[in-house]
Amino acid sequence: MISDWIFKETNQRRLKENMPEVAVIPTSAIEPHNMHLPVGQDFMHTSIITERSVKKAWKKINKVVALPGIPYGVDCNLLNFPIAIHVSQHVLDAMLRDIVASLLSYGIRKVVIVNGHGGNDFTPFIRQIQHDMDTHVFQIDWWKVGDDAYSEIFDKPEDHAGELETSVAMALYPGLVEMEHARDGKAQPFRFEALQKGWARTSRDFSKLNDHCATADPYAATAEKGEKYLQLVIDRISGFLVELAGEPVDDDFPFVKHGHIQ
Ligand SMILES: [Zn+2]
Repeated sequence: MISDWIFKETNQRRLKENMPEVAVIPTSAIEPHNMHLPVGQDFMHTSIITERSVKKAWKKINKVVALPGIPYGVDCNLLNFPIAIHVSQHVLDAMLRDIVASLLSYGIRKVVIVNGHGGNDFTPFIRQIQHDMDTHVFQIDWWKVGDDAYSEIFDKPEDHAGELETSVAMALYPGLVEMEHARDGKAQPFRFEALQKGWARTSRDFSKLNDHCATADPYAATAEKGEKYLQLVIDRISGFLVELAGEPVDDDFPFVKHGHIQ
């Protein structure tokens, strides 16, 4: 059975009959996550969230397609643990630039990046490409989509490989979670108040934080919490994709039309 919303499954004949309006591409990372989660965690959950969001959107408007994801991400600060694969941001940007240009040559001018790794940042890329090409690119960091509901679902604050990520893994691929080996994620704090408060930022060398490459407590994770958060995230992303697919790219896009300012 061919799923038209999965780009790698569809074919030329189907695409000729029904060209997508919106292409969605997951970006992620291959990196260690505490002692209990798979190194392919970010690649797997981000790909699944993308495909489920696109499927849900496609059922309302069949103009959305999920591209295969980029598995690798910016991981130079995790290389002291086995095994992170580091790909520089400029290489990711260059690859995305060519992908966006390819899509544009078929008239696809709306591209959504569903990002699943905190070390990736496509903000400058998006600013630049929208200057260089007649296209529109959007970034969603999926774990932030339900920020406003976070404390209703989870008990402990999230960072790398904590309660949220572990819950999502338990919901999506429970057979790959070795909870009995999970450690507490307690990490060395910054010595400067500005960094503790977060108004000054820097990159963290994870090998100076603790010995298990984790910065949040995973112990309260459950599959039910993961399922709940995923549902919220997928509902919101698919809703956005439906709106995007139905909206023509006019002169004011993506803003409200001129003359509608209150
Ligand atoms: Zn992760």
